[in-house]
Amino acid sequence: MSTLRFFALKETLNRKPKKIVEEKRRSELFGQNVYSLSKMRQTLTSDAFESVTNAIEKGAKIDRNIADQIASGMKDWALSKGVTHYTHWFQPLTGATAEKHDAFFETIENNGAIEKFGGSQLVQQEPDASSFPSGGIRNTFEARGYTAWDPTSPAFIYGTTLCIPTVFVSYTGEALDYKTPLLRALQAVDSAAVAVCKYFDKNVRKVNASLGWEQEYFLIDSALVSSRPDIQLTGRTLLGHAPAKGQQLDDHYFGTIPNRAMAYMRDLETESMLLGIPVKTRHNEVAPNQFELAPIYEEANLAVDHNSLLMDVMDRVAERHNFKVLFHEKPFKGINGSGKHNNWSLSTDTGVNLLSPGKTPMSNLQFLTFFINTIKAVYEYEELLRAAIASASNDHRLGANEAPPAIISVFIGEQLTHVLNELENVTDGKLSPQEKTDLKLNVVGKIPEILLDNTDRNRTSPFAFTGNKFEFRAVGSKANCANPMTVLNSIVAKQLMEFKVEVDKLIEKKDLKKDEAIFNVLREYIKQSKNILFEGNGYGEAWEKEAKKRGLSNNKTTPEALKVKISEKALALYKELGVMNAIEVEARYEIEMEDYIMRIQIEGRVLGDLARNHIVPTAVKYQNILIENVKGLKEIYGDAFKKVAKAQLDLIEEISTHIETINNMVTKMTNHRKKANEIEEVEAKANAYCTKIKPMLEEIRYHCDKLELLVDDELWPLTKYRELLFTK
Ligand code: ADP
Ligand code: MG
Repeated sequence: MSTLRFFALKETLNRKPKKIVEEKRRSELFGQNVYSLSKMRQTLTSDAFESVTNAIEKGAKIDRNIADQIASGMKDWALSKGVTHYTHWFQPLTGATAEKHDAFFETIENNGAIEKFGGSQLVQQEPDASSFPSGGIRNTFEARGYTAWDPTSPAFIYGTTLCIPTVFVSYTGEALDYKTPLLRALQAVDSAAVAVCKYFDKNVRKVNASLGWEQEYFLIDSALVSSRPDIQLTGRTLLGHAPAKGQQLDDHYFGTIPNRAMAYMRDLETESMLLGIPVKTRHNEVAPNQFELAPIYEEANLAVDHNSLLMDVMDRVAERHNFKVLFHEKPFKGINGSGKHNNWSLSTDTGVNLLSPGKTPMSNLQFLTFFINTIKAVYEYEELLRAAIASASNDHRLGANEAPPAIISVFIGEQLTHVLNELENVTDGKLSPQEKTDLKLNVVGKIPEILLDNTDRNRTSPFAFTGNKFEFRAVGSKANCANPMTVLNSIVAKQLMEFKVEVDKLIEKKDLKKDEAIFNVLREYIKQSKNILFEGNGYGEAWEKEAKKRGLSNNKTTPEALKVKISEKALALYKELGVMNAIEVEARYEIEMEDYIMRIQIEGRVLGDLARNHIVPTAVKYQNILIENVKGLKEIYGDAFKKVAKAQLDLIEEISTHIETINNMVTKMTNHRKKANEIEEVEAKANAYCTKIKPMLEEIRYHCDKLELLVDDELWPLTKYRELLFTK
């Protein structure tokens, strides 16, 4: 056993769970480090407070004078909690979070010093943006970017720093981050949904999108991770033979949480509470050492910020517990991967969840309106939704042997399927009084108020209705939720706008009553978007065939999937809604394609190194031992040695074959890489990486994994799957 593998295992086996003392109730800790509205109310003048609430609710501007007051209140609160620095906290297109800390401290005349923080520092900053990805925006336009305060997401203290959530835009106004387009999409869905709500309730003034994410992750001991260069550098194992026992027994899912993991979770939950992240659920996932964490859902922008922040906190808390968190969608071959279900719904400022059936036929018609419009939106833009979750790492889940598939479909359960079938038969044009009564009593009126417990749970669906929300399950565990949330809210906004136009037209031109017009339009939508509905097994080959017949896309790889982002249809959508202009969309496309290329490039390099410098030399060493053994047998047995040494001779040969193949393939892969790197055009380059280099990773792995089975365990340099997954 290599020294590294030996010490890693020894260290891991000696670990004890950290003792966690929880002195206060969670509810007392909740939001202590957040400059929330209630804290603002306590520390701000009523003018300033009103100004902030107007900015949050209506997007109103905050003037300089008021900004100064808010900054001052924020600073006093932060200083009282021992904070020394502040930072504009944002989410550049790297997918991580970014921050640059400045001290409140400033010198004044006569050698004195004070703590200072004014409105201008709160509202806007100019970080040196040149190292963040911009997809060429800054080359073409302006070299600088700035961050600007987003008052809808409250400032928080992390460590000794006051973090102010901000957007990040170039000087020419193009978004350089994930948050800006999300805010624009949320704005679009708000106004489109409010307009539709007015058919049912004139009092609705605002519609919020809600998001409840479920974060899956693996926890692996940090010593074991340091003995695996592949995990360290790429977040996943590039080789490693499946262990004799994997997840077949289903004994991990919802099982007892191991002690060390439990200590980690409790510590993490305390940190989350202080930061106002309402984490609620924790449990084991399907794979060994795989877990899930879910909060209570929140307004989508805040939920996205909280997920990004939480992933960061998870990393930091893991350090204290000698763990490394793996967010990669597929860290281990042959073992379940991780996702991040995005539970989504729309709710009004009058307290109604628009995706939850109500008590009266009218409120159920409202529910059906939003429900069917969402289905239609997904049908119209299924490829764009697929593009929103495309990444090199998520390709290992989508369209690979694991769910959900790369085909986007919607699952709605038996009851609602039945309701839609009934609605499909609604009369064209005016409805007879009898039909109206029938619809009211027997169709719309029959939707049970609580669907939650009745919805069948189809775990293979990428987009499922689960009683009072849609659950977008195909999102990757590593992803920033802003991307899928921007797309989902945009397409629903666009759909609701169209719906409104069509209903109004019917009311005016055909003199239909409001509910008649709504029934008529919904009927057509059901007919048009039927093909997206699928209740069966999403993993099967049969579905692939069926989906193809239905004309649904099946973009299995990221380069294929991403292309849709810059299609005319997508550009037109974003332009119409004001979510992104063509430059912003193209920049993102380029950044994501580059990211794809780089990830596979790095994996290629790491695997090349591991195969040549770790695996092959180990195999040679073992082969030499075998050769010595054969020589000895020959000495003893003379010419008869071949009979006694048969197994050894076979092994020597088998090892040679694998070594040779590995060597050839690594050379071939390096050559492919060199060629691919010369390609200028991003699409062709990504395709080369996808079709030429990526398959070789699998082939090289195959032979390395075979060697793992042949070579003496004592000599094997890399920590094995069994040790990574089952050491507690
Ligand atoms: P599971 O899918 O594991 O059965 P749950 O039903 O417990 O999960 O919910 C998962 C997530 O969905 C949680 O984060 C929860 O807060 C969120 N959620 C529940 N209701 C809504 C809703 N109306 N809108 C958005 N998210 C919701
Ligand atoms: Mg779920």
